[in-house]
Amino acid sequence: MYRVRLFATRHSRAFEWIYQRLETVFVALDPLFRRLGYNRVERVVAVPERWVKSFLFDCKMCGQCVLSSTGMACPMNCPKQLRNGPCGGVRPGGYCEVKPQMRCVWTEAWEGASRMKHGERIAEVLPPVDRRLEGSSAWLRASREKARPEEAATDKARAALAQAFPRARVLEPSAAPLAEEPPRAVNRGEGS
Ligand code: SF4
Repeated sequence: MYRVRLFATRHSRAFEWIYQRLETVFVALDPLFRRLGYNRVERVVAVPERWVKSFLFDCKMCGQCVLSSTGMACPMNCPKQLRNGPCGGVRPGGYCEVKPQMRCVWTEAWEGASRMKHGERIAEVLPPVDRRLEGSSAWLRASREKARPEEAATDKARAALAQAFPRARVLEPSAAPLAEEPPRAVNRGEGS
């Protein structure tokens, strides 16, 4: 729900606090979750997680929650699903170029981050979305990785990939590598 989503970013500091407490509880429960089997616990946790986060943040259950780094504004609500800042089309007043009635997710993210204790995390480069994790519990995943960081090797590799272009992050889009245009995109009327 859009209004609730805006409420969440306006109270991002409170949600940050709640998230930190929740993570502490989940990390403490790691030995129990291991005994039960994370696959079994997943089914129990993912359903209420979907309900709560859908209601509060319009969550799309990407499985790689980054709300703590984006001022409690979910970047999956950006029509372009951008994870590292806004596109170049933000309208006056901070509205989205694709959905003019909606505030740009990154305008909300920036304002939300400015209210948070660790709002500086918005400057961290986020790895690309791993579509294989869609629908899974991000709460379990994050707490599991915190409890056993050595098991998060795959994500470290993805994060390293994202960190490989720090200058592009600062200077983009001018420093971002350009992809070759597909042949069908060539203007065939040129020169005729
Ligand atoms: S204006 Fe903001 S929300 Fe809209 S597409 Fe661009 S980055 Fe995404």
